[in-house]
Amino acid sequence: LGDERDAIRQRIDIVDLVSQRVRLKRSGKNYSGLCPFHDDKNPSFFVTPEIGRYQCYSCGEKGDIFTWVMKTQGLEFREALEQLAKQAGVTLSKFSGGEKVDRSEREKQLSMMESALIFFRSEGTKSEQTKKYLDSRKLPPDAIEFWELGFAPENGEALVTSFKRQGLSLATAKELFLSDSDSSGGYFDKFRNRLMFPIRDEKGALVGFGGRILGEGNPKYINSGDTPLYNKSRILYGMHRAKDRMIKERKAVLVEGYMDVIACHRAGVTEAVASCGTALAIEQAKLIKRFADRVTICYDADNAGQKAALRAVEVFREVGLICRVAMMPQGEDPDTLLNSKGPEAVREAIEHSQSPFDFEVWLLEKRLGVDSAEFWEELPKLLSKAETELDLEKHLLRLAGQHPSIQNSTAVTNALRREVKLQKRGQVKQRAASVHAPKLEFSQLLPAEVAIFKALLDERFKRSYWRFLSETELFQSALAERLRSRLVEVFQDSPPSENPSVWLHKLENEELIQSFTDLALDVRVQVLTESYLIESIESLRKQAESNRLSRSRPSTGEVEDADLAKYLEKLRRHKGIDAERED
Ligand SMILES: [Zn+2]
Repeated sequence: LGDERDAIRQRIDIVDLVSQRVRLKRSGKNYSGLCPFHDDKNPSFFVTPEIGRYQCYSCGEKGDIFTWVMKTQGLEFREALEQLAKQAGVTLSKFSGGEKVDRSEREKQLSMMESALIFFRSEGTKSEQTKKYLDSRKLPPDAIEFWELGFAPENGEALVTSFKRQGLSLATAKELFLSDSDSSGGYFDKFRNRLMFPIRDEKGALVGFGGRILGEGNPKYINSGDTPLYNKSRILYGMHRAKDRMIKERKAVLVEGYMDVIACHRAGVTEAVASCGTALAIEQAKLIKRFADRVTICYDADNAGQKAALRAVEVFREVGLICRVAMMPQGEDPDTLLNSKGPEAVREAIEHSQSPFDFEVWLLEKRLGVDSAEFWEELPKLLSKAETELDLEKHLLRLAGQHPSIQNSTAVTNALRREVKLQKRGQVKQRAASVHAPKLEFSQLLPAEVAIFKALLDERFKRSYWRFLSETELFQSALAERLRSRLVEVFQDSPPSENPSVWLHKLENEELIQSFTDLALDVRVQVLTESYLIESIESLRKQAESNRLSRSRPSTGEVEDADLAKYLEKLRRHKGIDAERED
């Protein structure tokens, strides 16, 4: 296999391969372009044909032709290998005969699933009940077509009869969770009187069904159990439709049910998928990770939805996906929202997401209320879980003013900070690394500079103080200037509309991001006010002005130099005269 891999590497030029997706520009031995793995503004993506590798200096993505195909097409290694082998004209030897037998068995099973789908779809067009239900959900014919919705009749052996007529094996049908048998050996349908959602895997193979009862009855949903084709914890509904967008944008949306997926796609959120009737499983999270780096969880706003969202956050964390949480407006799901308020509302609800930490703080506020003593007892425990000081400060500052009995919000903030510290001390082992220790460079920031950058993190001042970033001589310390130029580089002259926890990551520089974290915590500027900011600007301008003056005037050192030069000149002249005399 190693030889085959090398043969493929030799025959496929990584520049050709990458050029199919990225416009590359030659620079010396290498090529550069906009990175396809992050939102790249300046080319930070490099291909080195010499060693057959690519690397992005901003987001850190790197690899060879195999990882390139895996990552850009969401394939597993084996699949990428097969694809590249075909392109290179290399025959792969290691296909065992046994696999072929399995393949033909699988083909038989898949073909039976497709016959079942044809049957359900044809029943769907005949069923008045189905039509009525789909009308009530305002589902247009093209969506019904696109998602291949069908109907399983009520009589109990409609599908079984159809299979018998086609001479298909009812035992196989039972294996595939399409039929079941009673003690006397008679077969009957698994799905009865249900709206049928075909479930396809990420490659589009029909592996299962979900059935929703039409009218009253229990259970509301039946989903295929585990079969040779279907493993409920490895499949996500809608994946075959969502995959392309996920790969392109490296992001995904996770919703609760079949109708939610359909509604999201109709609203243009075509990266939406759902787990089918189960809590999110680790394999499902890994599946998403093959196609995307970020995922937004969008569940119902009820208690069950909130709990499920918290669980999903944990699962995504475990596989290393960056995740955010969006809650549907109370009492709505994507489907009802689409029908009552239109596609824009669905998109907005999903975009209006928060970090998992913010989500937890929000949940606590909602559950206990800021007026309860219990809330203020619970709060430090939760706040101590903040990943960055910035996350912590944001909530501290916001909540401090809302304390029901203490009017002095600085006192509240300080008390909370102390509590949080104590809580953290209790968790020292895990959190030791995050203990706050400003670096030397950071401590050289002037208080006035600290104030201005703090203003940029503050909704109240962000807009009006952003323009000072264009004054190139305003900032005095080296770090402030680095922060200034990076902010201008990334966001130009208008401030980002998102909150700092979102936009800071766009600086794509750990050290600068960390500086903002330090800034948020800096004790030299505790309370930010308009007058303090105005004073800060004035003092920085004065400093800049005096720097300018001292540059245009010869410095004392230069005066000394000039005097010395004159003296030497004089000396030379004397010497010259002396020399002439000697001659
Ligand atoms: Zn990148």
